[in-house]
Amino acid sequence: MSEPITLACPHCHRRNRLAAERLDQTPRCGACKESLFIGAPVDLGTANFNAHANADLPLVVDFWASWCGPCKQFAPVFTQAAGTAEPRARLAKVDTEAAQELAARFAIRSIPTLLIMHKGKEVARLNGALPPAEFQRWLTNNLPGL
Ligand SMILES: [Zn+2]
Repeated sequence: MSEPITLACPHCHRRNRLAAERLDQTPRCGACKESLFIGAPVDLGTANFNAHANADLPLVVDFWASWCGPCKQFAPVFTQAAGTAEPRARLAKVDTEAAQELAARFAIRSIPTLLIMHKGKEVARLNGALPPAEFQRWLTNNLPGL
């Protein structure tokens, strides 16, 4: 038996705790009963960011803005990556216009900026978008194990 890990629900953002081997068994949230993995990035703001960033499950964050052309081009790459990174990581998007406190807290100077958060700490950062294969490689090389 492996250690239980914590992760936040993409729907109600409540903290869940489950055995790591259950990640592959399409787990559901203990609070709202919805699926804990949705095959797509979750939109996060100031109110719910910490619940995901402080979890044992690594969180990959795309800081973006609606006026940013490169962000729009990168969006489908990021969405596709959610399908392969789950359930080893959660992917999330933060709109830097709507969540300016988060953009300031992480000193986001250019977008898109990609961050990997694990147990409340930033463990990797990437400035600018990458083509799909290179982004996948960056994820593989930087995602912490559970
Ligand atoms: Zn839930």
